[in-house]
Formats: sequence, structure tokens, C-alpha cells
Amino acid sequence: MRKAGRLKRLPFWEIGVLDLNEGKPRRMIEGSMAVKAEGRYWMSATRERNWTSFNSGKLFAHYERWKLIQRSGECPPPALITVDPANCCNLSCEWCNAWKVRQNERMLSRKVLLDFAGMASEWKSHGGKYGVEAVCIAGGGEPLCNPHVGEFLYELNRKQIDTATVTNGTLIDKYAEELLSSQYVAVSVDAANASTFNKYKGLDKESRVFDKVIDNMEMLCRISRGKKCNLSKESPSNGVNYRMLLYKDNIGEISEAARIAQDIGCKSLHIRPAGIPYDLKHEFSFTEEELELFREQVSIVERTKKSGFGFYYTLGKFNEKFQKCNDFKSCYAIFMTATLMPASGESGDDAYCLNVCCDRRSDERMKLLSNETDIREIARSWGKDGHWKIFDMISSDEIKHICPRCTYYEHNKIVENCILNDNMLIHFI
Ligand code: SF4
Ligand code: SF4
Repeated sequence: MRKAGRLKRLPFWEIGVLDLNEGKPRRMIEGSMAVKAEGRYWMSATRERNWTSFNSGKLFAHYERWKLIQRSGECPPPALITVDPANCCNLSCEWCNAWKVRQNERMLSRKVLLDFAGMASEWKSHGGKYGVEAVCIAGGGEPLCNPHVGEFLYELNRKQIDTATVTNGTLIDKYAEELLSSQYVAVSVDAANASTFNKYKGLDKESRVFDKVIDNMEMLCRISRGKKCNLSKESPSNGVNYRMLLYKDNIGEISEAARIAQDIGCKSLHIRPAGIPYDLKHEFSFTEEELELFREQVSIVERTKKSGFGFYYTLGKFNEKFQKCNDFKSCYAIFMTATLMPASGESGDDAYCLNVCCDRRSDERMKLLSNETDIREIARSWGKDGHWKIFDMISSDEIKHICPRCTYYEHNKIVENCILNDNMLIHFI
């Protein structure tokens, strides 16, 4: 068996594994921008296969926008807003970072969703230079549980805002036509067989939901191929993406997941370690054997996958044992993206909340707006005193000890190293 190089974390870039041939570097594995293996660095920034949505280098394109995040002056709108259409789900995953907000069991109303699409398309700053460019319809529950999500996708598309959808795949058949307008549809399968799927998703041993998810994905791939739509665009980042959070027993299934994904027509497989939810006290870590199994599985996929199939793994936000790093001092990411969420409690049907950290959805202190009914309040409160109060509250101690693995790790590292300090001497290109 070929030996895979040891993984080392490097800032900003997604890290891969250096494939070794009898102890000598043989080639870069897809997804890698820079790898330190056996004490040597290998850079491969110009390889075509690195020009994908999973390349963190794209964050530098927002450098000028982020320089404007200051206490005085106009704060630019977030380029991306995540929308949680529903705080409920038909599954119950062991690692669900929305387990607490799902108890809310509320949804965003049709009015909130459509008003938001209009507001987002008109929200501009700096003479129209900056605006909301993309909406990711994702977490807080299963987004396709909301009956208005199809209309919402169409409306965003009509307003020329890019969309992506992250789903557990169980309800794709209800919205197949509407999902074609997404740039990508990421399906959190997290397993390569029914037994692991059922165990992790809180289902009966006999459940056939896994088969339904795979059938739904195959159907979406098939119908998108026959249509001119965003989902079928000629790009390695568009299309249906099979996703796998690595937890424990599913590490050995990575290569089988890659086989299934290719067989049913997915464009790519994306894997990353599962994190511990912010509001769960339990802990888990990967053993040396599991990390070795991970390297073996990665190596198998790289050797066997078809040309053109994307295999991506996000490791840059983790240390070499796949635990959180969070080695930055302040959180400017709360001015870069936000999450629109259902209202809570007794508030009216057309109320909503705006949370500034998707990793701490259940944390009331992360809410810039709570049970608000005027959608225009989002733009009015953005970058104002209340927002900076949240920033001041997130101390470096809190980032280290209370925050979970930060989704916006690289965003914060760029601010710290390239905007607050010019550690890269950014103009020397
Ligand atoms: S499918 Fe998503 S929202 Fe539903 S339980 Fe699993 S992780 Fe949570
Ligand atoms: S996890 Fe912490 S550091 Fe990361 S975006 Fe949320 S509040 Fe900021």
C-alpha cells in the first residue's frame, strides 16, 4: 500500500495530502494549494483543479470590501447571507449544530422570504459598489421543509442574486425544478450505506431513507444534465455535491461515498471533520488509527476517481488532529456574513431574527435583530452600535474557549494578517 504524507495545517489554503511513491513526492492531490509533507512545501496555485469553490484563496477578492469594516464610516453589506427557512428537520443527526434551534419549530413566512429577496437586491453601499451577491439556503433545520422555499429560490434568481442550497436530500423530489436555479446543491449524506446513515441520523435500523436520498440526488443530476440551468453550468463548482462530515465510524466509507457519488452523476465529493456544536457539552476526538484510515481513504479516492470528478477536503480550519484552531484574536467575520432565521416565541408570523454567527445559532447574544418585523431594519442596523457591541463582546478568550470550530477561520485570519497588519506585504505582487 502506498504511504500518504503527514498532514500539516497551513493558513488560508485548503490542505491536502501529498501522495508519496516509495517515500518520494509523486504528485499533488486535488484540493491542495500548499502542502508541507516530509518537511517540504509544495505550491500548486495555478493548477486548473484548484480553481473551485473550495479554494479559500477567493477570500482575498473581498479584501477591499473588508478594509471598510471600521467603527466610523459605512460598513459594506455582507457578500453572502445564509438563510435558515425552517427550524425543524425530518432527521436527527448526532452532530447537528442546530439541535437547539430546531426545538423552536418555526419557519420564515412567505412574506419574510420574498421581502428579504427584494431588500437584499437593493441593499448597496459605497455608491453601489458593494451589495449582497449570494444567498445560501442552509441550516437551522432542513431548508426544504419550508413550503415557500421554491418560490424564494425563483425570486432570488429573478433578482440576480446567486443561490446555493444545502439539504439533507430527503425532499429534493418536491423542489427539483426550483433547485436547478442553484449554483450548487450540497447534500449532507455523511455515510455510504444505510446502516451508518440510519445510526447517525436517528433512524430505525430498517429505514430506507438513505436509498431515497441517493435516488433524489441521481434524479436531480439527471434532469439538470438535460437543461440549461445554473446547476448544469460548465464549472467544477456547479452541480450536485455529495457531502460527508467525518465523525467516527464513517471514515472508512469515504472511498465508497466517492464511488456512489460518481455513479449517480454528482460533480464532486466534499469531506471535512464534524465539529462539536457550540451548545453541546460532549467531546470527541479522532484517534491516530482513524487519522491514518482517513489518509488511506483519501489516497484510494485519488487513485481511483474518474478524471473531472472533484474530491475536496477542508482541513485548514482544524489542527492536525482535526480539532478546532481558532487562533485569532477578534471576530470581524460578524461583519462579513449573517444568518436570517425564524423568529422565536410568541412573535407574529412575519417576524424574523438576524444572527451574525452561523456557528452559534442558538446564542441570543449573537442576534443583531430579534423578532423584528421590518426587513429594512437589517440594512439600518448593519455596522451600527449594536453590531459593534457584539464585536466587543467576542473576546479572544471567548473565541478560544466558547466558540466552536469557526466556519470563518480564514476570514478572520486575513483581517488579522493582511488588513490590521500587512504581514504579507500585500502590494508586492
Ligand atoms: S439534517 Fe441537518 S438540520 Fe437535520 S438533524 Fe441533520 S444536521 Fe441537523
Ligand atoms: S465561531 Fe466565534 S469567531 Fe467564529 S464567526 Fe462565530 S463568533 Fe466569530
